[in-house]
Amino acid sequence: MIPIETLRKMPKVELHVHLEGSIRPETLLKLARWHEISLPADDLPGLERWYTFRDFSHFVEVYIAISQCIRTPEDLELIAREFLAGQAAQNILHSEVTYTAATIEKHVGIPFDEQISALKRAMDYGREELGISMSLILDIVRGHSLDRAVQIAEWCVEAKEQGVCALGIAGEEWRGTAEYEPAYRLARECGLPVVAHAGETCGPEVIWDSLNVAQAVRIGHGVRCQEDPALVDELRKRQVPLEVCPSSNVCLGVFPSLVDHPIKQLLDQGLYVTLNSDDPPMFGTTLTDEFARVSETFNLDFEACRSFSVRAADAALVDTTRKAELRAEIDSWQP
Ligand SMILES: [Zn+2]
Repeated sequence: MIPIETLRKMPKVELHVHLEGSIRPETLLKLARWHEISLPADDLPGLERWYTFRDFSHFVEVYIAISQCIRTPEDLELIAREFLAGQAAQNILHSEVTYTAATIEKHVGIPFDEQISALKRAMDYGREELGISMSLILDIVRGHSLDRAVQIAEWCVEAKEQGVCALGIAGEEWRGTAEYEPAYRLARECGLPVVAHAGETCGPEVIWDSLNVAQAVRIGHGVRCQEDPALVDELRKRQVPLEVCPSSNVCLGVFPSLVDHPIKQLLDQGLYVTLNSDDPPMFGTTLTDEFARVSETFNLDFEACRSFSVRAADAALVDTTRKAELRAEIDSWQP
């Protein structure tokens, strides 16, 4: 077994983690108090009970309630700074963070430019004070209208120089993917790639749409590709990075337990697997815990763990200089 301290200190890169889903439980309670918002829980054990999800739509409900505790740009900056401090404490050198600007604009009313300025201040703090980088993926939530989706793509383009690295798509997969084609195209034509949650709550067809219509450069989750051998072949041939989040899958009932999770099969099939935490406090995990749980359950050694980080660094949407820095740090680190 690899000591957890080793995994904590090992340099890492995280490609699939949500900002609102990473709010520290203590901070969430504080924000609710400050803004006189009543949540179904007012202490930590209560929050833990609240974070027991019946299914994906229940999870979405809780997620929106959490997001609505962010009321001001200062709140946003606070949660982003705390997020970065938590990543730095785990030696996560670079994070690509999904953030649902559309929810904060619609339900809270903070204009997009104020949101992005607050997040930019936090990213500057991360770089200058903590020595780590973060970029943003603004996501379309399935169910949004096409107009809304196009607007989100426009926001991505507008904030490209302020740390946005991609257009994302998330939410309940049965609600559709292909119909947002004009939004994906707009982002791509302006030099911003698309990354897509797919193959988590629905099967291979959503992954195919993400590849063929959205032309996604990475797939969030993707774990249900296993249901279609032709898709597995395609993903292997193209080496499309999969952002695998095992504890998230178990908490949302995609697989009954970690032992049943296909991460080892995906690796054995030669797929491009990265390891991620998704919404760590909501799923009772951290990226370090994901490394510990997966390495222990599937008997992976330290070099296999390092490989997850190597692949994540290579699939990061950063310039070649930053990529080389990440690789140098990951490759040279010794436990
Ligand atoms: Zn996610």
